[in-house]
Amino acid sequence: NLSNKLNTAMRTLKGKGRITDVNVAATVKEIRRALMDADVNYKVAKEITDRIKDEAMGQKIVIAVDPGQMLVKIVHDELVKLMGSQVQGINLKSEPSVILIAGLQGSGKTTFSGKLAQYLKKSGRNVLLVACDIYRPAAIDQLKVLGEQVEVEVYSEPENKNAVQIAQNALEYARKMGKKVIIVDTAGRLAVDEAMMNEIAAVKEAIKPSETLFVVDSMTGQDAVNTAKAFNDRLNFDGVVLTKLDGDARGGAALSIRHVVEKPIKFISTGEKMDALDQFYPDRMASRILGMGDVLSLVERAQNAFDEEEAERINKKIRQNQFSFEDFYSQLQQIKKMGNIKDLMGMIPGMGQAIKDVDISNDSFTPIEAIIQSMTPKERQKPELLDMSRKKRIAAGSGTSVQQINNLLKQFEEMRKMMRMMNRVQDGKMKLPNFP
Ligand code: GDP
Ligand code: MG
Repeated sequence: NLSNKLNTAMRTLKGKGRITDVNVAATVKEIRRALMDADVNYKVAKEITDRIKDEAMGQKIVIAVDPGQMLVKIVHDELVKLMGSQVQGINLKSEPSVILIAGLQGSGKTTFSGKLAQYLKKSGRNVLLVACDIYRPAAIDQLKVLGEQVEVEVYSEPENKNAVQIAQNALEYARKMGKKVIIVDTAGRLAVDEAMMNEIAAVKEAIKPSETLFVVDSMTGQDAVNTAKAFNDRLNFDGVVLTKLDGDARGGAALSIRHVVEKPIKFISTGEKMDALDQFYPDRMASRILGMGDVLSLVERAQNAFDEEEAERINKKIRQNQFSFEDFYSQLQQIKKMGNIKDLMGMIPGMGQAIKDVDISNDSFTPIEAIIQSMTPKERQKPELLDMSRKKRIAAGSGTSVQQINNLLKQFEEMRKMMRMMNRVQDGKMKLPNFP
């Protein structure tokens, strides 16, 4: 999940004490991947991370601040900025004010209409709900049930098959009855189609809403952006309602939609009950996207468990290209103290990439530990010594195979290579390519 991915990114920075172009570039790449995993679309993710990179590079480093946390804050602030910083209300200028609800079938339009009716009624307005979904007989009943629940009148014409007419009649009725707001619930299709767009565009033209709200299911992930774009091209809506955020939708849709259609998100819907409605708060959504609580607690957990002195000793060996199996073993023990290895492995320099896609449980280290334990101290320092006869001896001693030993040696060599590279980079002898 996103917070895990970000944690991996954080690890790249953690313990370095300062933010440099090298660790920022690697971290930014991780963040971009993490955002995409949270359903943020590629172009948006790239723009965000480019900005984050500039921002992070410009920061003067305060030693006391953990660079990882600092980066979280930078990312968080950037996301908030992108999502529009302030809370956006809805437009209620003319009287009666007309609010038109559009979106695909099943996105939550009817449910949201009921919620919005209640919300506006609570703020003292006389509201009328209008049933313009003429295709499903049950749609009118559904709105009527909700209307009863929130005690708001529902206007409908069960025999009329003309949505434009119904909307116009409803508007007239509202004027006569002194209603202040009418909420027009419309029909949706399962996918964007011409007939649906034509109908809703005609309704919009006829009743001139002061607010057209596009309702979208946040669980639809990347598709939500395409749907939003199609509706906006045709309707030029005023705001977005994100529904079903009570599920495990990752929230990235909020960011992408905002960015692609350049319209504010105004409400979020978090359940089927009539009071499961909230205004959209960009900072809360940013925290959701980041899974910030998790990130921060992980940083803390890592700091508590890692023996600082041991970490410094190993860092020193890495800097001197002397990282051995002895050190590897010691790091494994440190990491195991922290609990979930899958989450934490990446703290070993160079390890994050290597194990990214591997399924790791705490048990997967048992053979590795056994192999290292079966080596002589000399072999642990100089794995080059391991010829076939030594490997056979170790395999027998650790209950593993020569194949497993070879695999471990290969991984270890990769790790050392990575460390040497990092050292050269840190010494300024080598420049990493810029990430696209
Ligand atoms: P419409 O076709 O766009 O009018 O969608 P509906 O309002 O009929 O909603 C479709 C389904 O999604 C219904 O079963 C709703 O109860 C459910 N639903 C709507 N909004 C939410 C929400 O925010 N969270 C959850 N969990 N379910 C929702
Ligand atoms: Mg409906």
